[in-house]
Amino acid sequence: MERVKFISTPCPALVLQHRGGIFIVAAALYQGYNYQHLLADKAHNASLQFLWRCLFVSYKDYQNARDAAWKILLDCGIDRLPVNLNIIRDQLGVRIVSYKDAKALIQKRNLTALTVQTDGLTFYAGEEPVILYSEACSPERIRFTIAHELGHIVLGHVAPGSITTKNREPSPGDSPQETAANQFAARLLAPACVLWGLDLHTADEIAAACRISKQAARFRAERMKTLHDRNKFLSSLLERKLYQRFMPFMEAVCCREVRPGESLQSD
Ligand SMILES: [Zn+2]
Repeated sequence: MERVKFISTPCPALVLQHRGGIFIVAAALYQGYNYQHLLADKAHNASLQFLWRCLFVSYKDYQNARDAAWKILLDCGIDRLPVNLNIIRDQLGVRIVSYKDAKALIQKRNLTALTVQTDGLTFYAGEEPVILYSEACSPERIRFTIAHELGHIVLGHVAPGSITTKNREPSPGDSPQETAANQFAARLLAPACVLWGLDLHTADEIAAACRISKQAARFRAERMKTLHDRNKFLSSLLERKLYQRFMPFMEAVCCREVRPGESLQSD
């Protein structure tokens, strides 16, 4: 290790500023340290941001998009709807830019043709993941586009040197990776246990509470109906944790202190 910097953190194993230190962090996590500690410090430290990106592998270990979405919500401290994607962006150290504002970058990387075909894409600028999105879409559609691209990043579909090439509304011919990214986005923005806790059923209710498009909300409403029919809620520890995290928000909504769509935070 050439450079080692001791960083003041609740997790004393995070004492590194070099690639070799990744193993120290990983060991610390195995010993049960909370990701939250890493995240809290990471925001103030570029070297920890680098390490955090290396740790995306931890999310890939979550077998499916659903569990990865729940884990991200928990790790980023999200506790209300609509999900604030700015928090996740900052915690994960992802740069997000509209096609319009990234014009020079798009030309430099020869991405113009691709931006015509897709509402969003992701690539790495060095070690930094960059999401580009079409500002021509509605704000609700843009939220889903960004969540979809975050899915490609955390599920390990894109790496330095590669680029995502599709971000459209879901269709039956989608590849497994596209399906996974859409599943991740839907579960990130509209977690089933929270919709269940708030007793939201219709596409209109879900769209308003989660700030997603009517089309995305219709898919979610159909899925919720299946889950209701099977009474399939809170069946995993991760989902129970998430439900607990959202409890104060759900209680406030149910006591009519706030409405789910009211706690809008700027994205
Ligand atoms: Zn995609």
